[in-house]
Amino acid sequence: MNYSFKKSFMAIMAGSALLLAACGGGGGDAKQGESKEAPKSEDKKVLNVGTEATFIPFEFMEKGKVTGFDVDLLNAVAEEAGYEVKIENTGWDAMLAGLQGGQIDIGMAGITITKDRLKTYDFSDPYFESIGMIAFKEGTDIKSAEDLKGKKIGVQNGTTGQFNAEAVVGENSPDISKYESAALMFQALLSDNVDVVVTDKAVAEEYQKKYPDSNIQTITDNKAFAIEHYGIAFKKGSELKPEFDKALDALFENGKYAEIYKKWFDGAEPDIEALRKAAKE
Ligand code: GLN
Repeated sequence: MNYSFKKSFMAIMAGSALLLAACGGGGGDAKQGESKEAPKSEDKKVLNVGTEATFIPFEFMEKGKVTGFDVDLLNAVAEEAGYEVKIENTGWDAMLAGLQGGQIDIGMAGITITKDRLKTYDFSDPYFESIGMIAFKEGTDIKSAEDLKGKKIGVQNGTTGQFNAEAVVGENSPDISKYESAALMFQALLSDNVDVVVTDKAVAEEYQKKYPDSNIQTITDNKAFAIEHYGIAFKKGSELKPEFDKALDALFENGKYAEIYKKWFDGAEPDIEALRKAAKE
């Protein structure tokens, strides 16, 4: 389902590119990149946002709409920066491809800022701290990341969960199965197609709550897994980064970030100083 959505999304993107090309072909005075459309409400530019909406509690579908911590935060940051955002559940791979291709202005999906990704994308300053987590059914013998060896491991393709698992059992290990979304990865765990999944802490804990009858257990391993920070992703060289960094900082200052954080994390206080420190690293 996700795949066909992705396909149709890409088709729409390709279609609109064709349409734009066709419109621009008349030698009119509309230059590329310059919008000749009537200004939107309040003159705000609308930014296309891609996401993978099974990454609870950061983004998930509810009554046909993408909702979650990331959605609330991005809406607030964009408003502060003077933009409107249109969030589409593109799926992970199409989000990253769309960012590179320029059809998507922003990727917002609990995306970890990594050295490797910084070669291809720009990221806002960190907005959330995370760490890898292993989830498994009760009775599975696993106490640390080392015990991933010999287990059937599920990961979400192209995520830090995959990289964390590979660091233990090796790249291209036949024991690693890659899924297209967090939901499919957890389905594989629930139906015993894999013994364990490796994902992000808050997401593992949320799926644990979502399926109370499945006795899902979770452990982290802070020796094997590094602290990660999520950032808002932009196309490399995007002029949006400085504007969004400034807006995010304003929300750190004015209490709006803390309000959103408390709403999604059971009233917990965010450690904003830790995020600011990470931004300087
Ligand atoms: N934080 C992880 C990563 O960036 C997972 C993100 C996700 O699955 N949405 O790789």
